[in-house]
Amino acid sequence: MNSVVTDVAQERRVVTEIPGPNSQALHARRQKVVSAGVAATFPIYIDHAKGAILVDVDGNQYIDMGGGIGVVTIGHVDDAVIDAAMAQAHKVTHTLFTVAGYESYVRLCELLAQHTPGDFEKKSVLVNSGAEAVENAVKIARKFTGRTGVGVLDHGYHGRTNLTMAMNFKAMPYKLGFGPFAGDIHHAPNSYPFHDKLSGAEAAARTISYFEKKVGATDLACLVVEPIQGEGGFVVPADGYLPALQKWCNDNGIVYVSDEVQSGIMRTGHYYASEFFGVVPDLVTTAKGVAAGFPIAAVTGRADIMDASHAGGLGGTFGGNPMAAAAAVQVFEEIEKRDLLGEAKRIEKTLKGALVNLQKKYPTIGDIRGKGAMLAIEFTEPGTDTPISDIVPKITAYAIQKGVLLLSAGTYGNVLRFLPSVITSDELILDAVAVIDEALSSI
Ligand SMILES: *Cc1c(COP(=O)(O)O)cnc(C)c1O
Repeated sequence: MNSVVTDVAQERRVVTEIPGPNSQALHARRQKVVSAGVAATFPIYIDHAKGAILVDVDGNQYIDMGGGIGVVTIGHVDDAVIDAAMAQAHKVTHTLFTVAGYESYVRLCELLAQHTPGDFEKKSVLVNSGAEAVENAVKIARKFTGRTGVGVLDHGYHGRTNLTMAMNFKAMPYKLGFGPFAGDIHHAPNSYPFHDKLSGAEAAARTISYFEKKVGATDLACLVVEPIQGEGGFVVPADGYLPALQKWCNDNGIVYVSDEVQSGIMRTGHYYASEFFGVVPDLVTTAKGVAAGFPIAAVTGRADIMDASHAGGLGGTFGGNPMAAAAAVQVFEEIEKRDLLGEAKRIEKTLKGALVNLQKKYPTIGDIRGKGAMLAIEFTEPGTDTPISDIVPKITAYAIQKGVLLLSAGTYGNVLRFLPSVITSDELILDAVAVIDEALSSI
């Protein structure tokens, strides 16, 4: 198999002003034809990428500390994954699986059954996006239970379709002006130890009490929970919180859905973050990191629940595309072959260590949290938990000028989140943190 671009030096390199002239020209073209509703966080345009590095159309190189928003967990343009997808592309690119099947779909479902938490019989459906996976999990849970209510948590994020908009916490930018929204969605407080100071048991009692008072457990089809909240700011719940929610769901016939679209697939140093918390969900959603950028997503879970739908109730034209499925199968193989779970743990050690040192210099770093290659820092007024929301945009704007792409998160926009590919070297991680240090000292 011949790759067009094979080598990109794994280093940042700034050779023009940013954005450079070619990016500026593309941005001008974009503004005429691309909807303004599609955000442009940075007006840079990428020509190619490799490993941890993005190369723009002016030849500037960026350390991608966002990993394509947690998608290229295995690294940009991984040779083995690209070769697997290309080999599939030369054989068949589409049939519609519900009309005529192919192996990569079945193989991916076997791997999902093997690597999602729980040692019971499992089945999957493959779809195109994280939001679509969440939608399908809700559909399946409703059909299985004969109930309609959906429980979700404050600061959660589940997508941009009509149902998932209603499940999100944040109005801006996800909901404002886009209603009416789907009904029977019920929000309750989450566990957010840095702010609520509650133990896992206390936070779970509060969440459960909300649902019992506002909805009634017997009206809930499912509870949809991100084990570590993504867009909400990498909120890691207090110990015991998720197991308590799971037990309450089990005791009350509520399907426990773990939305692992962001936290799944080696991100936290485990295949799924639920494992870290000792939780065995009934259903799991998978998307972002599973196929290194090829669009594919899944709902996986207990076979009896997954079989609740009548034939034809689940699916879609492009669901489980052969190339995307082949890429995902290869991602699973590479995780095993190259101990990528271990690499995620290495990132945690290096990055957390560097962030702890940074916190000693800058008391506005109120909290450092996360697991594996899913880490974040939250900026607050020193010694308090009052958010400072103008620091993070200044850091990300400074860093992009220096060749480091950083992402923000959090309900108050005061969280800097790190989602580097697990193959990012320690050297690059420390270099990126050095740029954050420079940014903070210049603010
Ligand atoms: C990104 C995300 C989604 C939505 O996925 P899309 O592929 O963008 O539709 C859903 N849930 C979580 C936890 C996410 O991080």
